[in-house]
Amino acid sequence: MNTDHSSKAFNEARAIIPGGVNSPVRAFKAVGGNPVYFSSGEGPWLVDLDGNRFIDYVGSWGPMVLGHNHPRVRDAISAQLAKGVSFGTPHELETELARLITARIPSVDMVRMVSSGTEAAMTAIRLARGFTNRELIVKFEGCYHGHADALLVKAGSGALTLGVPSSPGVPKAVAEQTLTLEFNNTSQLQQLFGRMGDSIAAVIVEPIAGNMNCVPPEPGFLEAMRELTSQSGSILIFDEVMTGFRVHPGSAQSLFAIEPDLTVLGKIIGGGLPVGAIGGRQDIMEHLAPTGPVYQAGTLSGNPLAMASGIATLEGLEDENFYVELERQTKNLCSGIGELARTNDIPLTTNCVCGMFGLFFTELPQISRFAQVQACDQGRFQQFFHGLLNQGVYIAPSAFEAGFVSGAHTASIVDQTLEAMEPVFRALRG
Ligand code: PLP
Repeated sequence: MNTDHSSKAFNEARAIIPGGVNSPVRAFKAVGGNPVYFSSGEGPWLVDLDGNRFIDYVGSWGPMVLGHNHPRVRDAISAQLAKGVSFGTPHELETELARLITARIPSVDMVRMVSSGTEAAMTAIRLARGFTNRELIVKFEGCYHGHADALLVKAGSGALTLGVPSSPGVPKAVAEQTLTLEFNNTSQLQQLFGRMGDSIAAVIVEPIAGNMNCVPPEPGFLEAMRELTSQSGSILIFDEVMTGFRVHPGSAQSLFAIEPDLTVLGKIIGGGLPVGAIGGRQDIMEHLAPTGPVYQAGTLSGNPLAMASGIATLEGLEDENFYVELERQTKNLCSGIGELARTNDIPLTTNCVCGMFGLFFTELPQISRFAQVQACDQGRFQQFFHGLLNQGVYIAPSAFEAGFVSGAHTASIVDQTLEAMEPVFRALRG
């Protein structure tokens, strides 16, 4: 595969952008080699600067649930473009997108738009603290909620001890207010709430973890979280930046029938333009300025182009068969991959929930913990990633990222993907 133009573009970028990228995982550090520079996308396809075509399972890290360059989204953005890009005032599209969200997610009475998932999670934490007058936050290892200081924290020496910064620059005093537990470990959560439930402002969780590959919750885990937070007056925050409108028309919380107090959204609600949102119970949401004392603001919050893109995307999901088909193709893909692995004696486990999936090079029949993901064969993943790239299939350049299927991934695209994967699995067998 010729990658001359991508390599040249990366070398030029590296001179003036740290690492050549504007978000670290794009730099291919986890898989080696240079990133591919894409120039266009259409449906399930991406085309790079050298003219190579790839079936894409990253989907801009989630937002492109309708596929790339979807006419409905493109037309909506163009129509708004003709009227103006940004006003910095209230406008009707904000209310329209908020209405679409509240109509689909029962726990969300009100919505505040922001410009990224990071901003939304940061605001949700501040709101929970302001509402409860408490400071401690609980999160889970392997979950990612953006890069606000309070959330770039890992477990201290023991899981129930104070957190420590996971990046230089995060103040120790801030990190100490965040406790990090093991995802899917209900007894640890019970123990913590038994000891200090009254001091916990909020628990924040990805209801299906998508930042440690794809790890669904074990039965009872989210239920226990709901019960413990309700009993102790803590706020339960579901971070649905990734799972929102990806796994069910009402998001993961509707799939599992659990209502959090606050929901953090992003990705799909912007349809590829920068949007995040905090939504939830009216009494909590009204604690935000200007109705309440908790401060939050944004120059480009509710940007008209971004709202138009989000509205068109959510409307594009209205077909009652959309999620049925999305799930069908994700399952076809995962079972086809499982079959290729078995035929070639490659130990592999897959997880999939509707439009998201995970592939794990492991002997374990099931993956439900972060430590299990960390123990997977990274070397084999790297080989797999580059093999797929050469065969025209683009997956995330890290073994810790979920894969995404879109409405444009038809049965025939999935078949093409599996055909392209065959020689890759043969090469893995050696
Ligand atoms: N929360 C989750 C679950 C995410 O997956 C991400 C990003 O991938 C974020 C928050 C942060 O969103 P953003 O990258 O828009 O800041």
